Amino acid sequence: MCLTNSGLARAAAHRYLGRMNDLSPNPAPAKPERARKPDWIRVKAPTSKGYNETRALMREKGLATVCEEAACPNIGECWTKKHATVMILGDVCTRACAFCNVKTGMPRKVDPNEPQNLADACAEMGLEHIVITSVDRDDLPDGGASQFVKVIEALRRTTPDTTIEILTPDFRNKHERAVEMIVAARPDVYNHNLETVPRLYPTIRPGARYYASLRLLESVKKLDPSIFTKSGIMLGLGEERLEVHQVMDDMRSADIDFLTMGQYLQPTPKHAKVMEFVTPAAFTAYAGIARAKGFLQVASSPLTRSSYHAGKDFAEMKAARETQLARAAAKA
Ligand code: SF4
Repeated sequence: MCLTNSGLARAAAHRYLGRMNDLSPNPAPAKPERARKPDWIRVKAPTSKGYNETRALMREKGLATVCEEAACPNIGECWTKKHATVMILGDVCTRACAFCNVKTGMPRKVDPNEPQNLADACAEMGLEHIVITSVDRDDLPDGGASQFVKVIEALRRTTPDTTIEILTPDFRNKHERAVEMIVAARPDVYNHNLETVPRLYPTIRPGARYYASLRLLESVKKLDPSIFTKSGIMLGLGEERLEVHQVMDDMRSADIDFLTMGQYLQPTPKHAKVMEFVTPAAFTAYAGIARAKGFLQVASSPLTRSSYHAGKDFAEMKAARETQLARAAAKA
């Protein structure tokens, strides 16, 4: 490992302080340990002109993004390409999942201008494909479903050629009506993340139920089979390989088209620890297994996130479905 001069000075200071702590009757409390990121996770700090323009537009329209709230490592690349995932219904969530960096608390009231502001931003950026997500709004009678519908309607009016991908919460205890409303508005892709294997739900996603999330995705397909369904999990939280395979099987049973898998990164020392940095080769192996299990599209790499390269992946998934339908027609 190569250390710069200031790095050497810091290392010497750490050694000195370490010795002092050993001798002190009241050693300073140890800082929580954070696993060092391997090289394949490191990304450049965002600085480009495109990044700054995207940031300015989001501020001007008063829009929150999951890119910032979740401290996504891909923000430099995505925002440079003018691709942002807008987070509707505010930036305060009613849940406190152990992996998520979004603030928890009592959210503000719903902004009636948000759907049109979002549609205007999308038109201004000239997006071919947009991903919209939200915080959990357990405080609202419909969980925020009607705001998703208004956003889809505003986008269809304002920028009709943009394809729309929504990434929704689980609408706990009200998912049937919520999903019906959203499906009727006809997004192109309905995404809802399972996040992790069921064994880890009590610690990682305590407010949610694994099978309820699966049922939500299954119900989208039953209501409108033409809508693509998508779901993702984070790896590195302590899951076993066979548990990941089981999640893939469960997703295929629910007829989910698109699986995303990415490395979990601990946003702050208060969040769940990274148990493992899964290697790029292991991500590729998982992708091969997922394809063999029948997913139309798979994205699996350390930096994969639900919305990473979403436009390109959507186009590929659409093409894969067309090929599949053509083959079925040829056989008939
Ligand atoms: S991967 Fe998704 S959340 Fe991350 S910066 Fe890109 S668009 Fe935003």
